Amino acid sequence: MASHAPSISLNDPTAQAVAGRWLKALTDVSNELVVLADADGTFQFVGSGPAAKSLLGLDVLELAQQSLAELIHPDDQDRIGREFRELASVPGAVRRAEYRVRRKGGDWVHVESTAQNRLDDPLIGAIIVNTRESLDAEAPASGRVNALTQLPTRAPFLASVGAAVGHAQRDATYGFSVLIVELDKLKMLVGTYGQDVVDELVVEVGRRVAACLKPNDTLAHLAPGEFAVLLDGLRDRVHASRVADRIQKSLAARYRVREHTITVSAIVGIATSERRYERAEEVVRDAALAASRARGPVTRRAVFQTQMRVEDNRYLQVLSGLYNALQGNQFRLLYQPIVALKTGRLAGFEALIRWFHPEHGTISPMTFIPVAEETGLIVPIGQWVMEQACRELAHWNALTGLEEPLYMSVNLSAKQLVEEDIGQVIDNAISAAGVLPKQLKLEVTETAVLENQDTAAALIHKIKESGVRVSLDDFGTGYSSFSYLHQLPYDTLKVDRSFVTRLEEGDESNEIIHAIIVLAHNLRMDVVAEGVETERQVMKLRKMACEYAQGYQFAKPMTAEDAAALILAKPQW
Ligand code: C2E
Ligand code: MG
Ligand code: MG
Repeated sequence: MASHAPSISLNDPTAQAVAGRWLKALTDVSNELVVLADADGTFQFVGSGPAAKSLLGLDVLELAQQSLAELIHPDDQDRIGREFRELASVPGAVRRAEYRVRRKGGDWVHVESTAQNRLDDPLIGAIIVNTRESLDAEAPASGRVNALTQLPTRAPFLASVGAAVGHAQRDATYGFSVLIVELDKLKMLVGTYGQDVVDELVVEVGRRVAACLKPNDTLAHLAPGEFAVLLDGLRDRVHASRVADRIQKSLAARYRVREHTITVSAIVGIATSERRYERAEEVVRDAALAASRARGPVTRRAVFQTQMRVEDNRYLQVLSGLYNALQGNQFRLLYQPIVALKTGRLAGFEALIRWFHPEHGTISPMTFIPVAEETGLIVPIGQWVMEQACRELAHWNALTGLEEPLYMSVNLSAKQLVEEDIGQVIDNAISAAGVLPKQLKLEVTETAVLENQDTAAALIHKIKESGVRVSLDDFGTGYSSFSYLHQLPYDTLKVDRSFVTRLEEGDESNEIIHAIIVLAHNLRMDVVAEGVETERQVMKLRKMACEYAQGYQFAKPMTAEDAAALILAKPQW
């Protein structure tokens, strides 16, 4: 290629003016450095130069004085010259290239360029669009789309995830998942087939991932072999894992690139909004962390777990503390009243665990239950909860004399649903305390059941046979599939707080919750509304024939002593 020279010849001055204004307007707002060249390789930069400034550190005047020989790395010049001539020989051809350019001051930066041969159009010539290589994700100059795949890069992807995080914070019924999809052994592929072939392959990978997504999902290309996906509205890991599986299967099918047949495999890391993130970076970081742990498992994918954040101090504190918490008697159960709406009388309580940490004070179950699940500690902790709740229930029976037996709701986590002897644990707790099986109700979530489809169903049937009842907790936050509802013999549906809160909003929300109640009744379940906070909500729920309500409107979770006192006071709401 020749060094810098006067611009390509343009015959029609009006066309030139128009084209010039268009291009300038575009390049003024673009992060991409646009270069026009003629067939000899004589080139000119286009635009007033924000891209040149960020990419090369040069302002427009300095840019005009640059020669390509100075700009392009000596080791790349021959190759780029060759590739340009090849491009120039094929009308309409598009070529991608990577090379190094010198920044003002002497540093070399990697750029990716996409060039198209438009030499048949004298107004354009060959157009070459340069961006900083997306590997340098933090670089301010990196473009908003990847030059190779034309997919969004990290910055716009983070913006999309940020919007989803905000949405989830405002609307408890909304959720999302982020997948990081990494191609395996990319370097090896480049070594075997060459960069051009791998580039084409990567473009095809992007297409295949896109084909697995829904219109509202976002696909981005973060680094050479790394794609990211935002699954809009898909908050639970079971279904996010299914999408991941679909993507992996699609990517595993053979690729034909030029004369080669190539296979690749991808690992996938998943993070879901079940974790209530506050920043987009955290979501993407957790998904990437999960991806890094996905190389081991046969499925080659992993959902982010707290455990993975080994560098997270709080996690380590929780973890090391948890081992001692049981022995150290640091767990307590609080009990939150559940009210029968028809009579206004106390119907039962939900047992909610608290950890009183000697240094950190009270720790919420939302913080430590996931850690307990991941370490397996949930098994002994869950057993303790079961036994303690049954003992307390026996105490209440002694107070009331079992005329109107109260019930006790105990939460079961997903991990407990796969414990073979959980049935035994339940039976033992009931008989040791001497309470009636029907007084005990176990709360499971839909996600927990779906995650353990094989064992959970059998276990729930077994529990039911012993006379213990089962609630589906947090309905409306997980997958909330009506189609799963009738498959298991739940006694009770607990409608999540997010639905109850929306009761204030107007007709549509009223109808949703009403429909859920009607459906539950048709399936012979009764309904508990969770998180009831206002008298208005109580009134509406009564009208809809919702059997039970639980929430701050009646009482917050309270100690065993306060619960006993409340029972004796025989409250009427
Ligand atoms: P959950 O089972 O859905 O429990 C209801 C949560 O809502 C409780 O939070 C309760 O304090 C809170 N809540 C009740 N009424 C209101 C209200 O009117 N307004 C608001 N804003 N919140 C209300 P908590 O105690 O922090 O428990 C959180 C979750 O931790 C529970 O959700 C349950 O999934 C889990 N959990 C609690 N105890 C245990 C346990 O012993 N074992 C297991 N596996 N999980 C537990
Ligand atoms: Mg519950
Ligand atoms: Mg709940």
